[in-house]
Amino acid sequence: MEKRFGKSLCPGRAAAPVFVDGPARGAGFTLGFCGAGGELARFEEARRAALDRLEGQYRQALGRAGEEGAEIFRLHRAMLGDRDFLDQVEENIQGRGLEAAAAVLSAGEMFSAQFSALEDPYLRDRAADVEEISRLVAGLLSGAGEAPPPAGDYLAAADSLSPSRLMELEGAKGLILRECSPLGHTALLARAMNLPVITGLEPDPAWTGRPAALDGGEGALYLDPDQEVLTQFQEKTRQEALRAAGLAARALGPVCTRSGRAVGLWANAASPEEAARALGNGAQGIGLLRTEFLFLRRDTPPGEEEQLALYRQVIQAMEGRRVVIRTLDLGSDKRAPWMSGPREDNPALGLRGIRRSLARPELFSTQLRAILRAAAEGETAVMFPVVTSPEEVLQARALLDRCRAQLEEENLPAGPVEAGVMIETPAAALLAGELARVSDFFSIGSNDLAQYTLAMDRQDPACDPRHPAVLELIRRAVEGGHRFGRPVSLCGALAADPAMTEELLALGLDGLSVPAEDLWSLRERIEGLG
Ligand code: PEP
Ligand code: MG
Repeated sequence: MEKRFGKSLCPGRAAAPVFVDGPARGAGFTLGFCGAGGELARFEEARRAALDRLEGQYRQALGRAGEEGAEIFRLHRAMLGDRDFLDQVEENIQGRGLEAAAAVLSAGEMFSAQFSALEDPYLRDRAADVEEISRLVAGLLSGAGEAPPPAGDYLAAADSLSPSRLMELEGAKGLILRECSPLGHTALLARAMNLPVITGLEPDPAWTGRPAALDGGEGALYLDPDQEVLTQFQEKTRQEALRAAGLAARALGPVCTRSGRAVGLWANAASPEEAARALGNGAQGIGLLRTEFLFLRRDTPPGEEEQLALYRQVIQAMEGRRVVIRTLDLGSDKRAPWMSGPREDNPALGLRGIRRSLARPELFSTQLRAILRAAAEGETAVMFPVVTSPEEVLQARALLDRCRAQLEEENLPAGPVEAGVMIETPAAALLAGELARVSDFFSIGSNDLAQYTLAMDRQDPACDPRHPAVLELIRRAVEGGHRFGRPVSLCGALAADPAMTEELLALGLDGLSVPAEDLWSLRERIEGLG
């Protein structure tokens, strides 16, 4: 038996033979230049075949990974219809006399280089997408492609894996990748499909066919695992199932420390699928619905009806438990292609959160109307991000009232909503008492609070929300909120740190909101405290 360590990307365990994915040997041919007309026709035929393949992958991903996971295939289809891209391929064939496959690869490289040079992180990410679609069409033209995967179950190993290739690897029960960005589409899909994934291991083609066991949480790959490892795997999986069943049985009850103090246990989510997972893991509600994700990968912002449908799905998925919908927090590192406004030298300190929403009242009203209408379906609250003053909250609440009055005039049903404030800036923590007068609850966003307190990008590993200054601001926020009887919870990553649970509760927090995967362990942690 051989044990290799990589880095954990998605938890879970699987045992199966390895399949090392890579180009099919000997595949790929060239026909020679068939004249511009002939090459253009071949390109168009391959492009249509690629569109069909992407459509199939979209449907498949929808079933296995939900709307958000499948979105990437819609984006790739749209890119394959982009006029500038098509013109460039045509120019490469007609003007430069390139064969169709070379023409499409060259256009892909050109656009990829252009995207890579952009400042906007969303657009920079498109470089990989344009390369992927051009490789797909070129592969169809030249017959080159990856080797067909085996029948049955396997652990797929590869240098890297595109989302489309992942959808083709139907028998994959786990992934071993040399490279995979935790925030990229492949990781997102794998997580939505519940596949264990480890990264940082160089796959060796000689692994193909070798029995293996993969522990995503531990970041370990066992080649030719012995019986003891396999038995341990089964036992751990059985224990986890038992633990989940035991916890599920208690999931509907309140979460209390041993001394009987009740603590709210909420989930953070960005889609109906995530909300459903949170409910399955015993969430008492959604403490933070990040709505930006509905607005990001698209050319125009979603309208009221589209937003309403999504919020309704989340509310229905939670079966009557409270859902706190955070209004758009665009700006900073979250930019949508349709966003306008001058270029900012320092976007993290620029127009974001509630400031951006108040500066775009039409967009803000559309979202508030959708939230009010969705609230007719179940308990819903609204929450404003990156607040710095009571005036901002008062303006947002005035707009909320106007939206409600409009809906009443239009005879459209709207439900009651509490309005809360996210404490994510030192200003908000220091003005907590004044903010509590104008709001119904607080939720502390420790990710941004740490960034703005420590003057350090939140992505920087050194940006530590456990810094005493951040904890002092949390203490003040709790104190300010409680002075006016407002509940205060925490929804940043700090909330899921088990080493901090005791200290956070000692600061007086009423609840914690964490990713669905952390709910069970946090529940156990709280129930184990005195
Ligand atoms: C936070 O800042 O802690 C937070 C929960 O909001 P987001 O991570 O979405 O900015
Ligand atoms: Mg934040």
